[in-house]
Amino acid sequence: METIAITLDGVPVSGRQGMTILELAREVGVRIPTLCHDPSLKPVGACRVCLVEEEASRRLLASCVTPIASGMRIQTRSPAVLEARRVILQLMLANHPESCVVCDKGNRCQLRQLAAEAGIGLVDYDRMDSFVNAQEANPFLKRDLSKCVLCGKCIRADQELVVVGAMDYFQRGFQAKPGTFLDRPLEHSECTFCGTCEAICPTGALSESKPLHIGTAPQRASTVCSYCGCGCSIWAYLWEERLVRIEPKAEDSVNKATLCVRGRYGSDYLHSKDRLLNPMLRKNGELVSVSWQEALDETAARLKEIAARHGPASVGFFGSTQCTNEENYLFQKLARLGVGTPNVDNGARFQAVSGILAMQEELSISGATHPLEELEFAAVILVIGAQPLESHPVASYALKRAVKQRGAKLIYVSPLEDALSRMAEIWINPWPGSEGLILLALLRAVILLRGSRVPGWLEAQDPGDFLKRSLVDSSQVDDAARILCSSPSCALVFGKGLSCSQGGKEGVKILVRLARELNCLGVAGGGIYPLDRAANTQGACDMGTLPEFLPGYRSSGDPRCRAELAQSWGKEPPAGPGMSLPEMLEAALRGELKALYIMGENPLEVLPSYAAEALLRLEFLVVQDMFPTATCQRAHSVLPAAGFLEKEGTYTSLERRIQRIRPVLPPPGGARPDCWILSGLLKRTADLPEYEAPAEVMKEISQTVPQMRGVRYARLEGSPIFWPCTDPTASGERILLRGGAPEPQAAPDPSKLMQTNPKDPEFPFLAVEVESLFRMGSAVRSSRAGRLRDFSHQTLVFLNPYDMGRLGLGEQTQVKLLSRWGELKATALSRPEIHPGLLCVLPAAQGRGLAGLAPWGWDPASRTAQTRKAGVRLERCGG
Ligand code: SF4
Repeated sequence: METIAITLDGVPVSGRQGMTILELAREVGVRIPTLCHDPSLKPVGACRVCLVEEEASRRLLASCVTPIASGMRIQTRSPAVLEARRVILQLMLANHPESCVVCDKGNRCQLRQLAAEAGIGLVDYDRMDSFVNAQEANPFLKRDLSKCVLCGKCIRADQELVVVGAMDYFQRGFQAKPGTFLDRPLEHSECTFCGTCEAICPTGALSESKPLHIGTAPQRASTVCSYCGCGCSIWAYLWEERLVRIEPKAEDSVNKATLCVRGRYGSDYLHSKDRLLNPMLRKNGELVSVSWQEALDETAARLKEIAARHGPASVGFFGSTQCTNEENYLFQKLARLGVGTPNVDNGARFQAVSGILAMQEELSISGATHPLEELEFAAVILVIGAQPLESHPVASYALKRAVKQRGAKLIYVSPLEDALSRMAEIWINPWPGSEGLILLALLRAVILLRGSRVPGWLEAQDPGDFLKRSLVDSSQVDDAARILCSSPSCALVFGKGLSCSQGGKEGVKILVRLARELNCLGVAGGGIYPLDRAANTQGACDMGTLPEFLPGYRSSGDPRCRAELAQSWGKEPPAGPGMSLPEMLEAALRGELKALYIMGENPLEVLPSYAAEALLRLEFLVVQDMFPTATCQRAHSVLPAAGFLEKEGTYTSLERRIQRIRPVLPPPGGARPDCWILSGLLKRTADLPEYEAPAEVMKEISQTVPQMRGVRYARLEGSPIFWPCTDPTASGERILLRGGAPEPQAAPDPSKLMQTNPKDPEFPFLAVEVESLFRMGSAVRSSRAGRLRDFSHQTLVFLNPYDMGRLGLGEQTQVKLLSRWGELKATALSRPEIHPGLLCVLPAAQGRGLAGLAPWGWDPASRTAQTRKAGVRLERCGG
């Protein structure tokens, strides 16, 4: 690339063609103040604060939009520049209320900082009328447009970064201001309350509606969001041992300048009054506080005693998608080495395990094959069984940017109309649960179009039958196949709608076959992206907290893999595969499983009522958690755990990015980091020396988990690290399978996909749970995050207007969904796109959602419990 030499404040410097003066100045360490500029937004030169002077012409140029040119001589602090900047700032201040002392933005206001820097005190100009303050009734954001400097950053962030389109300029001339459509309050607009506009706003025009602290937080720490598997980097702002604010951390992050409402406003659960503060043991039927020494001694002794009396397989362990890699590694080590049981599972069993098993079987890779940023370079994106806008919002921003800004074609398979269906080239509206059948039809159509040979397992299948069961028109599938086949790079995105449905593992295997047929693997702009994962679902499975796998996806049933692990553990782990959680619960009901240790999960809120009966049959239940969950109430030993800002460790995101979380707050009361608890129990059960710190656990992981070879905390600073990290000095492979995917193993079995069960006339509707932006999993955290809970306080049920009319329901009628197993109250809303006979349930930020209505049942291929759908009838409340 051509080098361009210029002179900056008399010093010769050189930059690259296309760079602006501001970019070059920043690169060489010369500061030019800005207000409307942000490196993540396209420059517009709106505020003119970044003016510089060109010596030859004496012209003042906006440095953020002026490209460098050979021979340019630029002054950044000439008298003319300083005077112009002063006048510009004074004009802005003349239109700004004099309320700095009480403004929530406080010392973070960039206008105030620049005015102070320019030595501006009182403003001589006549004051101008300001906008009328907007009235907002949401717990996240408030607008005071009297403080707006019309930099347009909020509008650009909304349109360029999160691609929502809630904001634009409203009115013209002196009346112009950022506003929603028809200037409505934010809660009546498309706004998703991601807070990106507020974080980027240079003044107090946008601020937090219910700030946890007004003023400047003296301390900030870099860490990772604890909700979904995107793995967003955040700055946590702290004041007097409290988290008061979260902002996106743009550098080296997946999220750049963005977050979503959960990540931005949903972490105050850490300070909930509900936190568990002391270890407890059940004595005479009551949970009583005890010392840690007693709790750990008793827990270890009971686990060992039950294992000795009934055999190690009478004990089960259930780890967490919210806990770190180090914690999950120690947890499965405690199970396999401390107690000697192969029965170890984790919360992925409720969400992602089908996808993980299928991808592992087909590709020997369980995570996304490409980093999320590659999505933006795909020519075609197929999204099936996923609701990225709600489940993984930061991934959805990349997806929308690909479509809106780079012209990618979107094929969207979803039962709900939303922003993605509206921008899709083809929107396929299936009967939920039939996504695997649609993939079968699509794969067959693609194979025929490409002139490839139809494999034997697919030959006998009748696509007409699949599509009849899916309620999908075959012409849509043919069109989708044509688009996929004619594109240079296709990305395939799936979510729980595919992986958690009946036969989900086969569905994901078919998706992988489609990726192979389309050559999506190993190429830029291609890839498979599993959007079915929480903060550390990937890491929990990588660490071997699964009955099928030892750490690093080595088969627990393979003697060679066990012998390999024995070399570092000094003892061979028990032969697997052990039982999955649904199998453990069934074994508990049969009286075969006697003890269960649950870390950081709340299966009673996620699973049908059957689980509660099973837990009651246990001799000994250990629950290690932050909160007194429903599961915790039944425990014999309660071990209070630290939250994500109170402990050290690493998460692995769905794109295989390994990132550190840091202890910046003390755990409340007697709560302790999970690593500390597990290390104490390993000492007591396996007679191992205690680990001094999580870094020591990571050192062991880096030696025993092949994908994590060479990972050290010191390497996790700065540039992102993805597994596999085969070379200790490199940052890991970002795009996998460049050398070709391994040969596929067993062919998918289409007979396991959606079976049509006879409809029960007493419960004629199929209710399915859809993803919510304001909740994750069993809502243990979102129900204790005040602002999420306040905004999303009612469960909604969407149904076809025909069904509404037939049942005599109006908009917002309060209804009950009833099944043989329970009932759920909800507010009914009509949605014309929903198939008659279908109810889409959007759960509130708290409560059990559909789980209480679902029958007990699990998919034998993935050993996953079905929790997201139920046959129900609908009644008007009080009717
Ligand atoms: Fe957190 Fe996921 Fe939202 Fe990112 S997209 S802020 S990781 S919940």
